[in-house]
Amino acid sequence: MTQKEGYVAIRGARQHNLKDVSLDIPRDALVVFTGVSGSGKSSLAFGTLYAEAQRRYLESVSPYARRLFHQMPIPEVDQIDGLPPAVALQQQRGSGTTRSSVGSVTTLSNLLRMLYSRAGDYPKGQSILYAEAFSTNTPEGACPECHGLGKVYDVTEKSMVPDDTLTIRERAIAAWPTAWQGQNLRDILTTMGYDVDVPWKELSKKDRDWILFTKEQPQVPVYPGYDREEVQRAIKQKIEPSYMGTFTGAQRYVLHTFANTQSTLMKKRVSQYMLSSDCPSCHGKRLRRESLSVTFAGFDIADMSRLPLKQLLTIFKPYSDGSAPGLAKQATNHQEKVLVAQRIAEDLVARVTVLLELGLGYLSLERSTPTLSPGEHQRLRLAAQVRSNLFGVVYVLDEPSAGLHPADTEALLKALDGLKACGNSLFVVEHELDVIRHAEWIVDVGPDAGEGGGEILYSGPPEGLKNIERSKTRAHLFNDQPFIKPTPRQPFGWLTLKDVSRNNLTHLDVSFPLGVLTSVTGVSGSGKSSLVSQVLVELMSDFLGNTTPSEDQFEDALQQDTVATLTGGITDGAEHIKRMVVVNQKPIGRTPRSNLATYTGLFDVVRKLFAATELSKSRRYTAGRFSFNVGKGRCPNCEGEGFVMVELLFLPSVYAPCPVCSGTRYNAQTLEVTYHDKNIAQVLKMTVNEAADFFEKEDRVLRSLNVLQEVGLGYLRLGQPATELSGGEAQRIKLATELQRMSRGKTLYILDEPTTGLHPTDVEKLQLQLAKLVDAGNTVIVVEHDMQVVAGSDWVIDIGPGAGDEGGKIVTEGIPEAVAKNKESKTAVYLRRTFN
Ligand code: ADP
Ligand code: ADP
Ligand code: ZN
Ligand code: ZN
Repeated sequence: MTQKEGYVAIRGARQHNLKDVSLDIPRDALVVFTGVSGSGKSSLAFGTLYAEAQRRYLESVSPYARRLFHQMPIPEVDQIDGLPPAVALQQQRGSGTTRSSVGSVTTLSNLLRMLYSRAGDYPKGQSILYAEAFSTNTPEGACPECHGLGKVYDVTEKSMVPDDTLTIRERAIAAWPTAWQGQNLRDILTTMGYDVDVPWKELSKKDRDWILFTKEQPQVPVYPGYDREEVQRAIKQKIEPSYMGTFTGAQRYVLHTFANTQSTLMKKRVSQYMLSSDCPSCHGKRLRRESLSVTFAGFDIADMSRLPLKQLLTIFKPYSDGSAPGLAKQATNHQEKVLVAQRIAEDLVARVTVLLELGLGYLSLERSTPTLSPGEHQRLRLAAQVRSNLFGVVYVLDEPSAGLHPADTEALLKALDGLKACGNSLFVVEHELDVIRHAEWIVDVGPDAGEGGGEILYSGPPEGLKNIERSKTRAHLFNDQPFIKPTPRQPFGWLTLKDVSRNNLTHLDVSFPLGVLTSVTGVSGSGKSSLVSQVLVELMSDFLGNTTPSEDQFEDALQQDTVATLTGGITDGAEHIKRMVVVNQKPIGRTPRSNLATYTGLFDVVRKLFAATELSKSRRYTAGRFSFNVGKGRCPNCEGEGFVMVELLFLPSVYAPCPVCSGTRYNAQTLEVTYHDKNIAQVLKMTVNEAADFFEKEDRVLRSLNVLQEVGLGYLRLGQPATELSGGEAQRIKLATELQRMSRGKTLYILDEPTTGLHPTDVEKLQLQLAKLVDAGNTVIVVEHDMQVVAGSDWVIDIGPGAGDEGGKIVTEGIPEAVAKNKESKTAVYLRRTFN
């Protein structure tokens, strides 16, 4: 083949499951890669094209700079010609831990600080402040009282001593450390003459205050196990003490630990004994008084950062086009200031407009990124690119429509068109049919997942796909079969919530039908997650008595600094629910130690099979031997991680395969044991599909594997580390884990966009699984944008009509056909199409 002008020519691509494929794809066009999950789309778009572009770029930079990049493995491909430099916009895998906000990711906060510094309204007599003075992260800006946290934390006697009938020995001071350190403090008090065996409330106020609140740290001799008299005698007789102990008051201990500990668990422990309130000096705005005294359009910078982006646009537009009232008058005295305001306002307006077009107008600059969905995060980064004025690059995107209502998808397509109009190429991995229809070129990979895929079924303009019989995408793209409505199911009761308020929901009354499948719909930012994933989940877990927050929830709270307020409650129907299962897109683990096989419980059974082999029995190996988490069986060098962490000076540390076990995680003796000629590491390397053949006679293993296949995960490897899974994959693993223990009934399942990452063919499989849950007597509530799922559900609750302040209400609810007829609902238009 010779290379065509204006095309990228790929020859002999063999990355992952790709079967030595060759194809030409056009530049300066929107190219969409389609195919069922696991067919090889990402292996081609990211693993081959993007990886090669990155490799070429990195060859041109110094080895030192190269280490700064998250390097992709070198792709298996013979040759690629005509490839422009590439920028990848992938969905974040795992959760980011860095503290950042919408303002910092988009760099809009920098602009705003410049604006306040140079063009803000200063009170009479106040000198001009530098831009840094408007940042909560600098000493020039941070409120000195709360150090820029916006909150002050304090403790009271009641918060640290919850039960004052206990003695100090009985741990009256609950806030104190436990174990040795707690005993040490008690022994110190004994030496100092305090009675640690009377109820706390019988101690004098003076003593109680000193023990809790003193800032002094006296050093005293400690005689563990002695009582007060014995200690006094020992001191008189000059008996050598065990050691000298240093006292720390409870308040000091709690506040110091909270501020300084690196351990989330410790922070969590001490925070139980603290009370937090808005800082009295800055009222939660985190900045110095002087900084807050500067305003623009009547807002201080903190209030401005709390406004939805949509409103920022309304505020800045008049400054960018010169129509703001009073501008002319001001221009005569402060011409420079007016010019600066106009220049910065123009830039702000341009950037915010892009964010609005991408359907993110409901976000505020202050919103912290850990509270954003992966789809929102990807679109924020996309917006930054649209404004970057780059040209001649190829953008490689991973399912940009994730989390988008069909109405928002139209805006996304406009933004992509904008990037293309600037002279760029777009390679997009996508399942959403509206995006696929918008493509100028389709590369369909398949026909199936893993080994069954990896072929290029089609590469050309969309119409041509019509003729490709083996394509699974074809049937959905050119679907002319009528929609077959499943027989609607009747609810056996209603779960009623009254007067709930959270984020943009205010005094909302809502009822969810029990024993059926309900879809909650609405444009992004309308309040679906606030209602379902926040309010409903919190109220139900209260009702079910799961009062201890999970590690997840706790980390979220820490990252958000604030606990959102919730009013209202469940008034009826909760008694029909015995258990709640939330299947969300949060990672299933944060280290490579958890993986698909361990999470689903499948690995326990596999380990037993290995322990039952002749060799294991002769060597007395138990199932524990085959765990990479315990001492005997695992590789001693990497302690079963398979990877070793390499610390780099000044850089984030990276994982590299362990040189001793070559990443197998086990020691040589363990690997000598085989089951049907495979050792345990080889089993972990199998895909779910391969394992299903391998374990076809082992019912218990097979059952788990089959469920994983049914949710479209047959292409994943059993040992696939949790850290490599996308949010959608993590969610489907949780779903599969639930499905295998299913069918007790009376369970409420809550799913947040379960179709993320799924080809329409896989969506059908998912629908069957959801139906199974309902048929077993359970209630299923999904937040969903996929109209196929919405149309197939028993009940629809449409939230909106718009996003943020313009949403938060129930626009309409009912059976799908009824909702489709509603005039106000933005969902109705798209739902109607499904029925035609
Ligand atoms: P898609 O993007 O179409 O969902 P992928 O390209 O991610 O599919 O996967 C195609 C095949 O390659 C699957 O069988 C998958 O398990 C395999 N695969 C993907 N990533 C890796 C990897 N890092 N190492 C080994 N195999 C992989
Ligand atoms: P949806 O799920 O429909 O996309 P959300 O419930 O996430 O919508 O958002 C509804 C509104 O509440 C939006 O204005 C959003 O910015 C706001 N919001 C959502 N979560 C938070 C949060 N953790 N903190 C502050 N505001 C939030
Ligand atoms: Zn403050
Ligand atoms: Zn090792």
